[in-house]
Amino acid sequence: MSTLVFLEHHGSAIQKASLGVLSKAASLDPETSGVIIGADVGGLAAEAARYGAARVFIADDASLAAPLPQGRVDVIADLVKANGFDNVLFGASVLASDIAGGLAARLDAGLNWDLTDLGVEGGALVGKRSALGDTVLVDVAWSAGPRLGLVRSGSFEPTEISGAGAVEQVGVTLQDFSTKAKMVEQAHAEQTGPSIEEADILVAGGRGVGSPAAFTELEDLASALGGAVATTRAVVDSGWYPYQTQVGQTGKTVAPKLYIACGISGAIQHKVGMQSSQVIVSINKDPNAAIFDFSDLAVVGDLHEIVPKLTSLVAARKG
Ligand SMILES: Cc1cc2nc3c(=O)[nH]c(=O)nc-3n(C[C@H](O)[C@H](O)[C@H](O)COP(=O)(O)OP(=O)(O)OC[C@H]3O[C@@H](n4cnc5c(N)ncnc54)[C@H](O)[C@@H]3O)c2cc1C
Repeated sequence: MSTLVFLEHHGSAIQKASLGVLSKAASLDPETSGVIIGADVGGLAAEAARYGAARVFIADDASLAAPLPQGRVDVIADLVKANGFDNVLFGASVLASDIAGGLAARLDAGLNWDLTDLGVEGGALVGKRSALGDTVLVDVAWSAGPRLGLVRSGSFEPTEISGAGAVEQVGVTLQDFSTKAKMVEQAHAEQTGPSIEEADILVAGGRGVGSPAAFTELEDLASALGGAVATTRAVVDSGWYPYQTQVGQTGKTVAPKLYIACGISGAIQHKVGMQSSQVIVSINKDPNAAIFDFSDLAVVGDLHEIVPKLTSLVAARKG
């Protein structure tokens, strides 16, 4: 079984989701390769090796500077044809999803998406994904190769397992139609502190927070703890907080060291996005809230009284 992992980078860092998929793939197959595509990306090869890549393909070309999918489909399709990879894996993102879809069409290959785990059975890759509204996990496979898989972001923590990291430069030949799209503008959301995927501590607020203004209470606690604020879909749908903070089935999957859930009922669609957190502390005024069933510490009370007190205690402890 031979595997290639697309290593998406933003600026001078490979994305955490890609590194998580790479280290998982390398744990199944020590000969796993990675591919980094862009302009001036050669310096990222060492990071790929640190997370398990035995070979690192570098496609370095000015025409690939913009994070557009078509040129990347060309590069990966050529690599698969030349090296006969059985599997091509991606950590899910908007760009990775576009590339995976384009590659499936180009290679006439099957794509399984939203995978939450990977394994090997009978020498071939198998995956797990949730179904029926995230209420069951099912095994999925491919009827033929190459097997393309998009892994749900946050499913695997990047693990350092040094690979040989042999670097191979790749010649870039783009199809005519792949050069038609141009990046007109790229904007970055301003963010202070870590993103919810990266933070070790998340202070998550649900509808029980009561209003957008009251989220400052959660922001103060998150900032005292060096963490980030996450939300439920009810909060995002009400326009109280940005979509990129939503945790759950239609949001992000997170696995922080500490998840403090404030005014969150614990619906299954929220649970699936945070149940892998190492420690879950919940504050809810309803003693029968479902979230208490999967919390390590259940605090029954009004979050507006408890959260500011917690913030003062943390600040006092930090001096
Ligand atoms: C297809 C589908 C996909 C979905 N995807 C997602 C998803 O990705 N993420 C997600 O989160 N949801 C998702 N949902 C919605 C989900 O079913 C729930 O509706 C949602 O998670 C509820 O959000 P909540 O806990 O913030 O609000 P509520 O269920 O309204 O809970 C609010 C809680 O706050 C408590 N509370 C109120 N005031 C206070 C106070 N002062 N102090 C302490 N506690 C208080 C209440 O007791 C209650 O338990 C999805 C639903 C569907 C159908």
